[in-house]
Amino acid sequence: MDEQQRRPDLGPERFPRRKTRQIVLRHPTNPVAVGGDAPITVQSMTTTKTADVDGTLAQIYALAGAGAEIVRCTCNDKEAAIGLAQIVPRSPVPIVADIHHQYEMALAALEAGVHCLRLNPGNIRKPEQIKLVAQEAKDRGVPIRIGVNGGSLHPDLYKKYGDKIVPEALVESAQMELAYFDEVGFEDVKISVKASNVPLMIESYRQLSEVTDHPLHLGVTEAGPPPAGILKATAGMATLLSEGIGDTIRYSLTADPVEEARAGRQLLEAMGLRERKGLDLIACPSCGRAEVDVIEIAERARDAFADKELPLQIAVMGCVVNGPGEARDADLGIAAGKNKGHLFVKGINAAVVPEDEMVSTLVEWAEFIAEHGTDAALARVDTDKARREADKDRAALLAEQGDDANASEQRVELIHKKFDD
Ligand code: SF4
Repeated sequence: MDEQQRRPDLGPERFPRRKTRQIVLRHPTNPVAVGGDAPITVQSMTTTKTADVDGTLAQIYALAGAGAEIVRCTCNDKEAAIGLAQIVPRSPVPIVADIHHQYEMALAALEAGVHCLRLNPGNIRKPEQIKLVAQEAKDRGVPIRIGVNGGSLHPDLYKKYGDKIVPEALVESAQMELAYFDEVGFEDVKISVKASNVPLMIESYRQLSEVTDHPLHLGVTEAGPPPAGILKATAGMATLLSEGIGDTIRYSLTADPVEEARAGRQLLEAMGLRERKGLDLIACPSCGRAEVDVIEIAERARDAFADKELPLQIAVMGCVVNGPGEARDADLGIAAGKNKGHLFVKGINAAVVPEDEMVSTLVEWAEFIAEHGTDAALARVDTDKARREADKDRAALLAEQGDDANASEQRVELIHKKFDD
């Protein structure tokens, strides 16, 4: 029984979602619902020229493979719109056309058959153009994301709020756009109020969630390259998700967009908001007790599992003294003993292998467990023998290093001495 089963309050119900209405991106074979009781989805955006149909499709497939359930492509000129007409019918996931300045591009993207539009209210400002696009989208059953962005806020709002980008301004921008949509009876809308400043982004979404029940698309815009970009985006999105705010997410990283899709999926899985599909590799931070180079083994394990879709949590632990206990909730793990690796399944010692076979053994067992389950894995080995070997190593290491592997008692004594002198 894992931690989540013992403590159901640690599951998704820990973060009750705020109620939103639902919209659907109507891909003919893979429709994706956003909002309501639909799972929180992961989005990303292509970096290719949309006119490059094959290149863009290759990236869309890579993104879908990495966990993106919705992909956005820019539609910035006629060639891009023509590209979209060929991309949309071959895409495995719904396609959103990103529109910034020209409303004609929105109309062309609708003509190309896209499953959703993103309009930036700061860039398309003429009410008659906004309403024309909304009417056309309504007639075709295509949803629109109102994508407000702190960096391209409507100039009137910027001025109104004292030449500052404040949450109230971002929310008002979204509301102004919604009011135009209302005039033509268009409600198939999701909204984002992104900013690159994390506290501003968080507060903007909080305020927005108070005034609308349209589904919300979360993101920290221009988060930058990893790892700082991932940290910033995670800080913003995880905070809101833990408050039940957010129906779909996108990491905006200065990196291969496949990293965005992976990060999105990992965030939702880590928060228990989506079922685990990919591997969760955990590793101890290492300490004076470690019998191996934990960083090196964890990196080798990460590389060995990189292209495997195994819904397991796997632990790499530096010592058999504490490792199996500290990682007892992992599906599978390995802990270093005296020149050996002790494999454990759900905290139960299962096998002993030479140190240089630790990673390959993990891979072999992970594949076995993914296919046959934990009980079958334990049934194929002598767990008593494995436990005896682990106990032996544990006792030997304790005798060698003592309970206090970092020799803190001696250090404390030295500190005392310094003060006593
Ligand atoms: S006690 Fe063992 S498992 Fe825990 S951090 Fe140190 S080496 Fe890793």
